[in-house]
Amino acid sequence: MIKVVKFGGSSLASAEQFAKVGKIIQADKERRYVVPSAPGKRNAKDTKVTDMLYACYALVEAEEEFRIPLMKIKDRYDTIINGLNLKLSLEEEFRKISENFKNKAGVDYAASRGEYLNGIIMANYLGYEFVDAAEVIFFDENGDFDADKTNKVLSERLEKCKTAVVPGFYGSMPDGSIKTFSRGGSDITGSIVARAVHAACYENWTDVSGFLIADPRIIKNPEPIKTITYRELRELSYMGASVLHEDAVFPVRKAGIPINIRNTNAPEDAGTWIVESTCHQSKYTITGIAGKKGFVSVNIDKDMMNSEVGFGRKVLSAFEENNISFEHMPSGIDTMTVFVHQPEFEGKEQAVISAIHRLAKPDSIELEADLALIAVVGRGMKSTRGTAGRIFSALAHANINVKMIDQGSSELNIIIGVSNADFENAIRAIYDIFVETQL
Ligand code: ASP
Repeated sequence: MIKVVKFGGSSLASAEQFAKVGKIIQADKERRYVVPSAPGKRNAKDTKVTDMLYACYALVEAEEEFRIPLMKIKDRYDTIINGLNLKLSLEEEFRKISENFKNKAGVDYAASRGEYLNGIIMANYLGYEFVDAAEVIFFDENGDFDADKTNKVLSERLEKCKTAVVPGFYGSMPDGSIKTFSRGGSDITGSIVARAVHAACYENWTDVSGFLIADPRIIKNPEPIKTITYRELRELSYMGASVLHEDAVFPVRKAGIPINIRNTNAPEDAGTWIVESTCHQSKYTITGIAGKKGFVSVNIDKDMMNSEVGFGRKVLSAFEENNISFEHMPSGIDTMTVFVHQPEFEGKEQAVISAIHRLAKPDSIELEADLALIAVVGRGMKSTRGTAGRIFSALAHANINVKMIDQGSSELNIIIGVSNADFENAIRAIYDIFVETQL
């Protein structure tokens, strides 16, 4: 069995963290392929190496002095190297980087050096082979990830290495220049490597023990989620829960490989398993709760709307014309409501209203701002009676006015609209009824 292990920036921020990572890898022979991020923050006031690199390259572009900030980055790595007592010098690497900066190698090249250098240290520390991601991860002419070419080259290459380190976050363009994924993209590299080596699992090591049922800033010590399906994860991440880069799911999901989110600082914790499907019932009816503030509802009224063919399409065209995507669209007999993101909508509201009048000729349009949406997600809801009832009685007891209800046809989630001011209390009430009291 092969396991691919990816370590996030906070897991590799210092020599002490590297030592924890080394122990984790050595504890299991199956952990053969390692994907490191760049060193992250050592404490709340610290700066991630990736951010230092972006700042340093901004100086290059502004034709300002960049060598001192670059040497500060070198210091971060040297501190790790010395702390681990490695016989390794990055002198030559930094000379090359400085040269390439001078020749304006590009912002992606600059940012990618964080992972590249950390990969060199990691490979040296573990005695694993170093495989530069530029040689095995590819983007096409349009800058889109080239999955087929990558999978072919990467699997052939890794077949030849019993153990290897592949730095996260970047790959190369057809012309050989470096391109990165979006921020947090080392998660994607880990997933790509797992697919290429047909791993039994993709372990993603971070600084929390997996996904939590609810946001710890709202619920004190929420319980972790043991098992979550890819679809549930998508619903929760869309609504703001974040541990993993959203695009990291695709390569492993295609190959049926589960992801295990683990905590470098608490390796004995089982973490969260992300799977295609499972017969494990979750402990509670719900798997998780997530939500976002800052929505506007556009309430449209028209007598006999129900019998007018094409009314919904005309209303939505008004949003499309203004390049606004909508979130939810519950409707009644003569009313229809469209939920949109407030920041996206605010500047365009009058244009949208007049477009709706022009296209759909409604009787009236009313707007309500400062609304929040909460998603209660769980594969268990399908087979349990009364879930919606429990949610709404909990909210009624907490004196919260529910402004919108939308249950997806998958029966995987119930979306509730409340005012921004009720957001935290609503999440507490729902968590309480399903997890704390389990009524
Ligand atoms: N180091 C990169 C970032 O900070 C990529 C990653 O950590 O996944 O976004």
